This record gives sequence, structure tokens and C-alpha cells, in this order.
Amino acid sequence: MDVSVKFLGAAGSVTGSRYLLDLGDFEFLIDCGLFQGRKDLRRRNWDKFPMPPKDVEAVILTHAHLDHIGYLPKLVKDGFSGPIYCTGATTEIAKILLLDSGKLQEEEAEYAKKKGYSKHENPEPLYTIEDAEAVFPLLKPQEFKKPFAIHPSVEVTYYHAGHILGAAITKIVIKGEVQTKKLVFSGDLGRYHDPLLYPPTMIPEADVVWIESTYGDRVSSVPKPEEELANAINDIFSRDGLAIIPAFAVGRTQLVMYYLYQLIKKGKIQNVPIYLDSPMAINVSQLYREFHQDHQLIAVLEDTDHHPFQHSNLHYIRKQEQSRMLNDLKEKAIIISASGMATGGRVLHHLMHHLPNERNGVIFVGYQAEGTRGRRLVNGESGIRIFGQEVPVKAKVYNVEGLSAHADQNELMEWAEGFSVKPKLAFMIHGEEKSATVLAKKLKKELGWNTVIPNYLESFMLFEGI
Ligand SMILES: [Zn+2]
Repeated sequence: MDVSVKFLGAAGSVTGSRYLLDLGDFEFLIDCGLFQGRKDLRRRNWDKFPMPPKDVEAVILTHAHLDHIGYLPKLVKDGFSGPIYCTGATTEIAKILLLDSGKLQEEEAEYAKKKGYSKHENPEPLYTIEDAEAVFPLLKPQEFKKPFAIHPSVEVTYYHAGHILGAAITKIVIKGEVQTKKLVFSGDLGRYHDPLLYPPTMIPEADVVWIESTYGDRVSSVPKPEEELANAINDIFSRDGLAIIPAFAVGRTQLVMYYLYQLIKKGKIQNVPIYLDSPMAINVSQLYREFHQDHQLIAVLEDTDHHPFQHSNLHYIRKQEQSRMLNDLKEKAIIISASGMATGGRVLHHLMHHLPNERNGVIFVGYQAEGTRGRRLVNGESGIRIFGQEVPVKAKVYNVEGLSAHADQNELMEWAEGFSVKPKLAFMIHGEEKSATVLAKKLKKELGWNTVIPNYLESFMLFEGI
């Protein structure tokens, strides 16, 4: 048996994770992500899939972020009908995010039509809400640490990766005619000291490793991100301003709610109203109850009568008109709203209304990819475009990096050191060129790893005649 891999995304970038494994008579995908961020990357969502989607026999998901699952509706629309394996929490989060993505795709096409900026007379969405729903019956939830077969020669096991609820490191064992080989996909790795999620699992052995490299060139210098968060909020409140926290609906929002609750309880910030203005984030927060075995929130709570996701000063905003009412807020308050990189969602309305006021502050709590409004704001640009309008940036912008969902360079190295047997080959994935290069050099120098930084659409023969 020969085994090869083709990189259909997240090669030299942090988006569009898709890796096609070819075993000759069986081709399957690891992750099926949407390209987000820069326009030239987003355009790839429209490229013809390199093979007929009906010939892909299965998909294995590492976690439910859109850059790992957001292409699924398009794949299914174009003919894929095989099983999609993922953890239980990933199944539920994927449903929430894919529906939202379908809605956004429809809205974008509608907007392009209205504004006439599309080359096409009748711009079509990449996929619709209905296409997203067509994915649901194919999702096959699996348990952590319990191997499952996806083919007579292929067995898969999920391990906790931290990062977000349900995220998994994926081990794939391929039984050839003469040899057995182990492949390990890190997926996105979380932090080793996340208060809510379990740390990434160490895997002792692999022939080939795919390691994410988002922060391959960065060491998170903030040992206590909650203090940095408190400082930013207190700074904003000292000006009687409003704190806006753009946060990903999945993961960061829950971590921010947890820290805010702790900070209020310890008297480190004032007990002001907190508005969680994101129906998606509210729905995801509720999944923490259903999948309580996949996180350690209950264990870290000293007092279970009060809950970081449920207390008197936390207000869930579901309806659009309630969200609009927040535009008139005059008193000190904290608004948490998606999306985390200000690429869309309700946070755009809040930014539009509150950025021009120098008393206010915007606190970013996650990675800001190239080409996003979030990155521009963090870079200190004096104005940004929202809904076709130039909005002056007078509010102060803060970036609390220690709250990122991604392992930093030290943590990536720590995970790599967990392999007691050196892998024969390691691909640096899910990182911009610089961070992938820095991590590759470090792994080579310190651990003697044979590292490769793949290019988009590049293929590699992994094993011949196994
Ligand atoms: Zn992710």
C-alpha cells in the first residue's frame, strides 16, 4: 500500500485546513475548512475541488472552528455523501456554526447583488442554510480515547487537544500489508493552563506528525492574562467608557465570561452589567452543560450555586432589537460579541457606534489574522471600513494575547517533546510563513526533527509499499 497526502489548505496560512490522505483505494479528508481572512485566500473557497467530492470517502474533523469545518456544506452540495467523524461536542458546535455560516453566505451574496459589486449578474452564495443542514445527517459523533475504524485498514482515535470544547488531537493508524504506520494530526492545540479545558494530550509515538504553528514564533509573555484583561477594563472604566470585547462564539467567549466572573468576585473590576450579545455564543455556552465530561469547569468552581455563565449581572442578548438598544448605553458596561476578528457579526454594529468615542475601549482576546479588521485595529489604524462606511478609530484598542486559544511556542515545543520516539517526518501546518519557519527551525535544532513546510496544493508520498 502507498500512502500520500495533499495539502488543500492551512499550508503557509492559518485558514482552510484540509488534508487529503490517499491510500490508493481509499481517499479521505482530515478537516474540511473554509478559507477566511485575506481576499486572495477567501477566493480559494470558489476554486474547483481538486477531485470529484463524491470520490472522497470520509472526513475526519479535529474541531468545530469554521476554518476546519466551514467547507463541508460545499463539499456535500458538490457530491460528498460519506461519513463525517468528530467528537460529540464538535458535532453540536458544528451544527451551530454551519447554520450561521450558511446564513452569512446567503447574506453576502444578497449584499453583493444589491451593491452590484459582484462580477456575476446573479451572485450565488457559496452555500445556503439548506446546504448546511444537509451536512448534519452525515456527522458521526465519537468518544475521546476510544479507537474507531473508518476503513478495514484505518483506525482513528481522538485525544483532548484543549483549544475549544470538543477539540481533538487525531491519531490515525494505517495497517498496510506489511507494516503499520501512525499519523498524528495535532489539530489546533490549546494552552497547558487553561482553566476550563484539559491540556493537550501527549502522544508518545508517530511516524508522521502534522503540527499547528499559529504561534510558532511567539512566546506568550503574559503569565496571568486575567490581570491584563482587568487592567484594560479598569483603564476604560477610568474614562467612564464602554468595553467592547470581540470574541469568538466558541471558546474565547466562555473563557472571557469565566475570567470576568472571577475578577468581579475578587473585586478586581467593578460589578457592571455584562452583555453577551451573540445567540451563537449563548447556544455554545449551554453545550458546556451537556458535555461536562469534556471540560473542567465544574471542578474549578468553588461555589456551584453561582456560575460564570449564569449570574445576576450577566445578560444574554438574543434578539436583534435588544442588541440595537445597546447602542444607546451610557453607563459603564462590558459587551462581549462575535466575531472575534471583527470580520462580521453583531460586533460590527457595536464597533461602528462606539469606535469614534475616545472614552471607549476595544479588547481583542484572540489571534487576529492578516487582512481582518481585528488585525488593522490591533495595528493601530486610525480608521476602518464597516458596512461601506469609514469609521474613525478614537477608542483605545487593547490586545490581551495570553487569552488566545492556541499554544504558544513553548507549549508547542512541550507537546513535541512528548513524543518519546522521534517522528520520521513533521509537517508545519496552520501557521503564517514566518511562524511556521521559526517553529520548523526550533524543532530541527532542539529535537532533531525532520521538518517540512508544505505549500498550498503540494503533495507528498508518505509511505511506499507498506
Ligand atoms: Zn481552531
